[in-house]
Amino acid sequence: MFNERVVSTFDNKETPFYYYDLKLLNQTLSECKLAADEHHFYVHFALKSNFNDKVLSAVKAKGFGADCVSGGEVKKAIEVGFDKNQIVFAGVGKSDAEINFALDNDIFAFNVESVQELEVIDELAGAKSKKASVAIRINPNVDAHTHHYITTGLDENKFGINSWDLPLVSETLKKCKNLEFLGIHFHVGSQIMDMNVFKSLCIKVNEMQQWFEERGMPVKILNVGGGLGVDYQNPDENAIPDFKSYFKIFADFLNIKTHQEVHFELGRALVAQCSSLISKVLYIKNGIKKNFVIIDAGMTELMRPALYQAYHQIENISKLKVESQKSKDAESHISHLNSPISYDVVGPICESSDCFGKEIEMPETKRGDLIALRTAGAYGEVMASAYNLRPAIRHVYSED
Ligand SMILES: *Cc1c(COP(=O)(O)O)cnc(C)c1O
Repeated sequence: MFNERVVSTFDNKETPFYYYDLKLLNQTLSECKLAADEHHFYVHFALKSNFNDKVLSAVKAKGFGADCVSGGEVKKAIEVGFDKNQIVFAGVGKSDAEINFALDNDIFAFNVESVQELEVIDELAGAKSKKASVAIRINPNVDAHTHHYITTGLDENKFGINSWDLPLVSETLKKCKNLEFLGIHFHVGSQIMDMNVFKSLCIKVNEMQQWFEERGMPVKILNVGGGLGVDYQNPDENAIPDFKSYFKIFADFLNIKTHQEVHFELGRALVAQCSSLISKVLYIKNGIKKNFVIIDAGMTELMRPALYQAYHQIENISKLKVESQKSKDAESHISHLNSPISYDVVGPICESSDCFGKEIEMPETKRGDLIALRTAGAYGEVMASAYNLRPAIRHVYSED
């Protein structure tokens, strides 16, 4: 993502900012769309991973739908021009106002997460003399083998309806006249790297659709959610996830009937690699056992390390520039200066968890150097906060 030319465009830019490689974003979107189209699969982009306007326009332009988890996201999706008929709305705690807004806009489907929510949507739809299309979010009790904060598909999680409540669900659906049962929905977690998780999910989906069909309730939609992971360790080598293999698992293991639609909700896999958080080194502090690099970005700009102990590759991209100049210079005898030093890279926020990485090996780093926190396009900018009265986050795009 970074070379001397790209880094030189940052020279007069105020830091910190999110840098977007729009070419990589478009390539990623195209590869995903192509791989999904091959199986006639529908993909909705999870807005919660990134709702930057340029990102959303690119996603929309490629023909993706929108996966929303709040009324605000439904509104945003409509504003940027997503087809209302391609908007799905999940969330364990939809308010009446959010449900009404979605009803007024005739979205494609509510992914419903409790029996009580079914009754509320039925009542609100009735008051508008409308029929709401619903998919039942089922908690499949499949372990995503990911960080416990981003696991959503186990019995103990708050998401979805547990299988023992399904008889009550089918009874409720039969008595609620303002609901149309579309199908079933699942989402087992995020940053899933073990493809066996998706195979287990397929098996669960097959069982569940059979359960409904046996009760005379045709399942038109199988929505298997998102969760495909990205390579945080090797952002340049694996810039684009293997969408082909991912979709093939569902084509191979799902029991897809004719006239049934298969829907996906991908967030991270589509946007994580296209952006890095760029920050400037403010100070170097040498401790007894540690050297600290204090940068001008903190957990207020990128919360994932503080929130999930997430790893982001950290690069001194000013050194990258200097080194490439040096390598051109055959006379250079100062290569020993480049032997790496171990640093803890921390932000300016008054929290000990405001730390981006411990014992990170980097070339000798100085005040004013630019630091890139890689793979920050998903769940980065969207989680920025004003804590410590920090200014609003800025962005720079590759075409600027
Ligand atoms: C967050 C979320 C997604 C997207 O997850 P990724 O791991 O970013 O692909 C999809 N569906 C639902 C319901 C979600 O909450």
